[in-house]
Amino acid sequence: PAAHEGILRRQSLRESAARTYGRSLPIVPVRARGLTIEGADGRRYLDCLSGAGTLALGHNHPVVLEAIKKVIDSGAPLHVLDLATPVKDAFTTELFATLPREFADDARIQFCGPAGTDAVEAALKLVRTATGRSGLLSFTGAYHGMTAGALDASGGAGDVRVTRLPFPQNYRCPFGIGGERGAELGARWTENLLDDPKGGVPTPAGMILEPVQGEGGVIPAPDAWLRRMREITAARSIPLIADEVQTGVGRTGTFWAVEHSGIVPDVMVLSKAIGGSLPLAVVVYRSELDAWQPGAHAGTFRGNQLAMAAGAATLAFVRENRLADRAATLGARMMGRLQGLAAAHSCIGDVRGRGLMIGIELVDEEAASPDALVPPPAPALAAAVQQECLDRGLIVELGGRHSGVVRLLPPLTLTDEQAVAVLDRFADALAAAER
Ligand code: PMP
Repeated sequence: PAAHEGILRRQSLRESAARTYGRSLPIVPVRARGLTIEGADGRRYLDCLSGAGTLALGHNHPVVLEAIKKVIDSGAPLHVLDLATPVKDAFTTELFATLPREFADDARIQFCGPAGTDAVEAALKLVRTATGRSGLLSFTGAYHGMTAGALDASGGAGDVRVTRLPFPQNYRCPFGIGGERGAELGARWTENLLDDPKGGVPTPAGMILEPVQGEGGVIPAPDAWLRRMREITAARSIPLIADEVQTGVGRTGTFWAVEHSGIVPDVMVLSKAIGGSLPLAVVVYRSELDAWQPGAHAGTFRGNQLAMAAGAATLAFVRENRLADRAATLGARMMGRLQGLAAAHSCIGDVRGRGLMIGIELVDEEAASPDALVPPPAPALAAAVQQECLDRGLIVELGGRHSGVVRLLPPLTLTDEQAVAVLDRFADALAAAER
């Protein structure tokens, strides 16, 4: 406990106030396995943050550790810039085997370095180079990263070249129209904007979207809307970029989230789980878009050997053990129980998600004005729930525009018993926070 306190104190003094997770989760992880993290104070936690969705197989999965050890024991170089290696070859082969066939058959890969935001940046630069255009379409509530270009594409930031369109949502539709009608309205708005020669926007270099918004509050895009976005962009030769940084590798119940709607994007941005808990990010795109000259997109840390080995092992394990299917069935069961909880607690405004990407939106029923489409968010309650969860040994993350959504991103290896334990602790924490 003394070490725990000392570490927390020193790090909070030395590190920038900008650090996010550490402020709301004052724990000092020293050991971890699967769903469980152990702190320096000896306390154990069920980790449903999973490195913001990174840990498809949970912490320190044996196949991941084995893959890393194998590289180290083989004497292979740990860093060789972007040279060809057997490790990279194995990773790329495994990755392409998981990608939607129609996409993979004609795709190129660029290793970016090392975070999701780097791959987003590469994607934006790629479509600008390939089309010779500069504008970009992105969506309200989007999160694509924290570097300048990715930030521009994220809801909330501002850049004149980026036109932000409303992301459709059943619960918080800005027009009060959810479901298919809302999605169709959003699609028509997009068409009008692109086709209006006077008041619209010039044909942009690309459109970037998340099939399920994660940081935005776990908002799944309706499949019909995604198909309309694909039609609209294809008809105008606008490359469609699917940001699958968080939704990839089985998390949403299919290996890649675009598979739910069947759309084939022009560019896919991949990171988090593809590195098997080590930093790795790639952009994969239709070969026709490969407009870069040699040297046009370089960087020192691209395709780390250990991350590629850990990633290849993770991708293979998810594929061989059909963990995407497992995420679909277990996620649906968990959301069913959460819906039951919502019926008993008016502070739960919505339970939504796909697979093991689950959001519980907390709202303030009493503060709702009579003409409000939906009750206002309850960020203070959400923060209290997060704290009560932590007190009960459960780590959850918050999301959404007002941080009013509790997010569950457990590993895909979650057992039935663990799922029950997670939801028991969550239900207890909610009841305590409400009091
Ligand atoms: N895109 C999406 C959809 C994300 O969820 C994130 C991270 N949460 C990013 C991009 C940025 O990734 P990174 O934090 O690794 O830069």
